[in-house]
Amino acid sequence: MRILIVEDERSLRDGLQDLVSTAGHEVETAEDGEVALSKISGSAFDAVLLDLMLPKIDGLEVCRRVKERHPSLYVLMLTARGSEDDKVTGLKTGADDYITKPFGSRELLARLESVERRLAPPEWLSVGDAVLDLGRCQFRRGDEICDLTARESAILKMLYHHRERAISRAELLEHVWDAPGNLETRTVDMTISNLRQKIETNPSTPNIVVTVKGVGYAWGLKTS
Ligand code: CA
Repeated sequence: MRILIVEDERSLRDGLQDLVSTAGHEVETAEDGEVALSKISGSAFDAVLLDLMLPKIDGLEVCRRVKERHPSLYVLMLTARGSEDDKVTGLKTGADDYITKPFGSRELLARLESVERRLAPPEWLSVGDAVLDLGRCQFRRGDEICDLTARESAILKMLYHHRERAISRAELLEHVWDAPGNLETRTVDMTISNLRQKIETNPSTPNIVVTVKGVGYAWGLKTS
C-alpha cells in the first residue's frame, strides 16, 4: 500500500517510517497538518496514519477535510491520550479506526494488514454482460477471452480502488510504470487507448475507463 505517516515527533515519525516501509509499504511522511493535506491532495494514498496532536492543523481537522474529499481513504488515528472522548471524536470526524500510543509494532502491522485485505480489489468484477477478471488479468465477454497486460490490469485496479475520484496521468505514471521519470504522459494515453480496444464495447465512447477533462481518467461504472 501507499501510506502517509503524519506525526510531528521526529523520532516516532522515523521509527514508524522504518517499520512500515520494512513491511513492504511505500511510505511518505508529513510533520504537520498543513503538509499532510497538501501531500494528500497531490497524490493517491491508500491509508493515512494520523497523529491527533499536530502543529498548524490538528489531526481531527485534517481527518475531517480528508474525509470530505476522499471518503474511501483509510484513516488510522494515532492517539496518545487513551481517553474515550478522543476516540469518539476521532471516529465522528470519519476516522476508520484508532490506535493508542504507545502501541506495539506488531499491533500496528496487523492493523495495516487488515486494511490491505479490505482495500484489495475484488478478484473479478461484473461489467455489464462481461467479466473483468483482475486476478487472472483477463476480460471475458461470452466465449471471448481477452488477456490484459500486467500494466493494463494495474491501471484498472488503481482506477477501481480510487473510484470516487479521477486519477491524473502523472499519478498513473508514478504508480503503474517503473521509471516514470523517462516517460511522457502520452504513454498513459496510448496504453489506455489499447486497453479500451480490449474491454470497451465502443472504445470511442468508453464507459469503463472514462476521460475526465483536464484531470485524467476515472472508473466509469457504478459499483456497489
Ligand atoms: Ca503529536
